[in-house]
Amino acid sequence: MLSLEQIEKNYDILRTHIPQMRIHYAMKANPDLRILETMIDKNADFDVASDGEIRTLASLGVPGEKMIYANPIKTEAGLKACVDAGVTRMTFDSESEICKIAKWVPHATVLLRLRIDNPKAHVDLNKKFGAPREKALSLMRLARQAGLDMAGIAFHVGSQVTTADSYLHAFDVVHELLEEAKNEGFDLPIMDIGGGFPIPETGVHYNLTAILDQIAARLREDFSDKIIWSEPGRYMAGTAQNLITKVIGVNERNGQVWYFLDDGIYGTFSGVIFDQWDYKLISFKEGEKIPATFAGPSCDSLDIMFRGKMTEPLEVDDLLLVPVCGAYTSASATTFNGFKKARMVIWEDVRDELGLGNEQLSLAV
Ligand SMILES: *Cc1c(COP(=O)(O)O)cnc(C)c1O
Repeated sequence: MLSLEQIEKNYDILRTHIPQMRIHYAMKANPDLRILETMIDKNADFDVASDGEIRTLASLGVPGEKMIYANPIKTEAGLKACVDAGVTRMTFDSESEICKIAKWVPHATVLLRLRIDNPKAHVDLNKKFGAPREKALSLMRLARQAGLDMAGIAFHVGSQVTTADSYLHAFDVVHELLEEAKNEGFDLPIMDIGGGFPIPETGVHYNLTAILDQIAARLREDFSDKIIWSEPGRYMAGTAQNLITKVIGVNERNGQVWYFLDDGIYGTFSGVIFDQWDYKLISFKEGEKIPATFAGPSCDSLDIMFRGKMTEPLEVDDLLLVPVCGAYTSASATTFNGFKKARMVIWEDVRDELGLGNEQLSLAV
């Protein structure tokens, strides 16, 4: 169940708290066409990472100027798609990438992706991407020599960050680097602060508006002369989608109850593996909770989502609600073993059909 109003609301909250920031939706979190269309209506920009994402947006009429190719390692197919769609803004973190970009998109506007270590992030993207601080200036020089428009710094503090600290730390690093770069004659008008903004998670407490306000205050203080971009993915889509799944089998093995659901690891729960996420299950049933194993419908033994998860006792045909599962879930679902991906229903359509007034989908915000 997808709420497009919640997508808009999430967008508006970011815009309200950090008005100086341009939002590029990181569509890898959830590329549902209706989310993309909602973002287009909001006049958002997009973070893209592949030829497929670039071509999808181009087919929806999004001009290349509204995309940033933010994957530091680009494929030839991706660069060809840039040429076709007119994408000229991109990030890089290595010398080899500079040559590739200069060959395919001469004079491209490039941002250096800087590594900002953050072991506290739920998903630390800096293990895979980002130039080390000490290499930053030499890479910028090389980009300039290659004829590229060396225009700024990008970073990603890691996904699902629940305090402002990592952003503030990144700002310190960038601020110092910008000073050094200025002495070498670099005018770097853009800072791209990436994604990372959090969504509700079991057992985790945070204050979103406080985080956003702290970021905004620091941007006003130290970066008021910069153009600020961001690339939120999880935050934009996470709270806008709930899963409704059905118990299709019950068994007892070695003294523990097993519930088999009609969606699993190869479907919407793919985030259990790819996103290391622990989803909340709501049964709306009564009874003393018991520990249970939850498995998906396929014949693979890997298809087990949770072990020892506390739940009210369930029966075949019971429905479970799984809130806050819009990010990195359906995006990585497969049709393995012939099971269809979960059908997507738009909450606002259901609400209107059932005459539910202004009822909101999200249970979490
Ligand atoms: C995945 C990704 C994002 C989105 O990150 P979230 O934590 O989901 O907001 C943004 N930028 C880049 C370059 C990414 O790879």
